[in-house]
Amino acid sequence: MRYSRFRLNNTTLYGAVEDRNNEPWITHLIDAPEEDLAFRLEHGSRTPSAPLFAPLPLREAELLPPVTPSKIICVGRNYRDHAKELGNEVPAEPLLFFKPPSSLLAPGGVVRMPRVAERIDFEGELAFILARRVHKLHAGLHPGEDWRSCIRGYLLANDVTARDLQKKDGQWTRAKGFDTFCPVGPWVSDEIDPHVGVTLETRVNGEVRQHGSTSDFIFSIPHLLIYISAVITLEPGDLILTGTPSGVGPLQPGDRVEVSVPGLGVLSNTFAAEVD
Ligand code: MG
Repeated sequence: MRYSRFRLNNTTLYGAVEDRNNEPWITHLIDAPEEDLAFRLEHGSRTPSAPLFAPLPLREAELLPPVTPSKIICVGRNYRDHAKELGNEVPAEPLLFFKPPSSLLAPGGVVRMPRVAERIDFEGELAFILARRVHKLHAGLHPGEDWRSCIRGYLLANDVTARDLQKKDGQWTRAKGFDTFCPVGPWVSDEIDPHVGVTLETRVNGEVRQHGSTSDFIFSIPHLLIYISAVITLEPGDLILTGTPSGVGPLQPGDRVEVSVPGLGVLSNTFAAEVD
């Protein structure tokens, strides 16, 4: 199953995404996930009736972030080459940090580059969403249950970072947390398996700048689930960013960044100087 979240006639909807004539279409409406409380307030418990909707190509939809997490947890330095390129040791344990949900940005949205930052970098990443509450996973799996049952699906993300503020502040809340610094999408899919290795690419203005494989993760997805849930209770819809491969670099206003993984589409966003 692949799905997107989008606006149509001033209404938020969820739709299944399927290929038609070699391009993704939103083919029919589906129920909203339990954590989208704003959707529940707007619609009550029922999905809006189908007559409001006709199938449309994804590129014509007004897409929203396909996630409404209670928290966004990110992993730093999870590819060996990226740790080295910034002059860091390969970590012995996952390095965790938060981005606030207010940093989420829709596919196609414009990342605002704050004036207080001198260097703003892209970080193309694979992300995943929790399917259910997970607390101390190591102790919480029933016999025969797979860690995959904790994951609803995968999607693309850009962990936009004010690199100079990251160094200056010592901790990363400001550098990683500006509004619009977490583009995600365009859809959520449970049809890929990053645990066996998928290729992630990031292009800037059409030029390939990052090319990595999840088979080069320092910490695997089940390792991350166990490590994170030992500290933090994860809720349905929570978003985890798994780290970026080597090749990160600074951006200029007007640049377009595209993150892609086969099966997850292309997450495309432009960058613009802050005006207000
Ligand atoms: Mg990152």
